[in-house]
Amino acid sequence: MGADAVKRTSRDIRTANRYEVLRQIIARSPTSRQELAAATGLSLATVATLVGELLDLRMITEVGFEDSAGGRPRGLVAVDSAGGALIGVDIAETYVRVELFDLALNVLARADEDMRPGESRPEQVVGHVAAAVGSVVAQAGVEGARVLGVGVSVPGQVDRDTGIAEYAPNWDWHDVPLLDLLAEHIAHPLYLDNPLRACAVAELWFGAARGRGDAVVVNLGTGVGAGLALGGGLHRGVSNSAGEWGHTTLVLDGRLCHCGNHGCVETYVGAPGIMLNLRELSPRSPLLHPGDQTATIDALARGVAADDPVAVKVVRDTARYLGAAIADLVNLLNPEVVVLSSWVAATLGEPLLHEVRETVAQHALKRPYAATEIVLSPIPTDPVCLGAATFALEGALQSVGQRNHKRNAGSARSRTAPPS
Ligand SMILES: [Zn+2]
Repeated sequence: MGADAVKRTSRDIRTANRYEVLRQIIARSPTSRQELAAATGLSLATVATLVGELLDLRMITEVGFEDSAGGRPRGLVAVDSAGGALIGVDIAETYVRVELFDLALNVLARADEDMRPGESRPEQVVGHVAAAVGSVVAQAGVEGARVLGVGVSVPGQVDRDTGIAEYAPNWDWHDVPLLDLLAEHIAHPLYLDNPLRACAVAELWFGAARGRGDAVVVNLGTGVGAGLALGGGLHRGVSNSAGEWGHTTLVLDGRLCHCGNHGCVETYVGAPGIMLNLRELSPRSPLLHPGDQTATIDALARGVAADDPVAVKVVRDTARYLGAAIADLVNLLNPEVVVLSSWVAATLGEPLLHEVRETVAQHALKRPYAATEIVLSPIPTDPVCLGAATFALEGALQSVGQRNHKRNAGSARSRTAPPS
């Protein structure tokens, strides 16, 4: 919880508890108040109060009773999947993907927009997002008023409170007021964060980090970073910048990075870095699709499956860089699980995972390594959209807290768009 912990008020704690209870209901539906108390460590009285609030909000519903070994039958509650819709937006360097979810976080509609190189000006990106959000709402046939919020993930450093994308190295964005620009087109509450946070939350709620105390979610896309779920919660750092592991130095005086430094992890294991690994090994390789990251990574995956020696060597070289850098995370954080997430990890899959495990074993200290499992993300859909949608859910629960405790409503993270 980072800096938030310092200024936590009773209202924040109540919001966090409401969030935790809803998260457990989503994971366990249908479930009883007794089971929720056991799962969350909260008292039965507290759980009963929070369940009552969620029932009032129509986010959950009563669904009958279960026998309790001769005792009084226990009332069961479940997520009311029709109780509202959430939208998750994954703005990546090469595409915009938008998914609309019900309250049980099932995908109801999806829209994709490709972004060509050179299409990365803020107003172009905003245009793509607005079109895709309009498309999913229309496809799902959801009334606008039922959309509880839109979570937006954008690469780089973001200020969640002001909605500003402070720095996106791959696009050279500086201090772009992204949420204000989006609010001109989208009339739902908007919440901003980055893909490291989104992937970590998705794994924490629905993936390989569920029920784990300390997890690292390694995000391998065009950009590279680590989402940190420490002590069962998201670790943001004091200015929401924790996890910028992609810009730690792997090779002293190595390749030039967009961030201005040399030898960053990202320049060896991000999609453009992998393309460079291939080009340095075999400049004329037919696997190389200049200017097209997706096509090149796809070709490498097919090449490995067909035992193409160049593809095998490139994936092995990439895994050696990646494994050495992951060993740093293992030694530093002693996590229970390291999850390889995002599109490059999903495309290269098991062969990459296998090589990474071997390299981490060579570089990490024995004790933390023995306690760490390294896995591919088990989330079958886009984890960034899923995580972004949970930010919207979190925001909706927070704004309820603010409505109930108006005198304390100082730190609004959400914003409501002007009426259209
Ligand atoms: Zn860098």
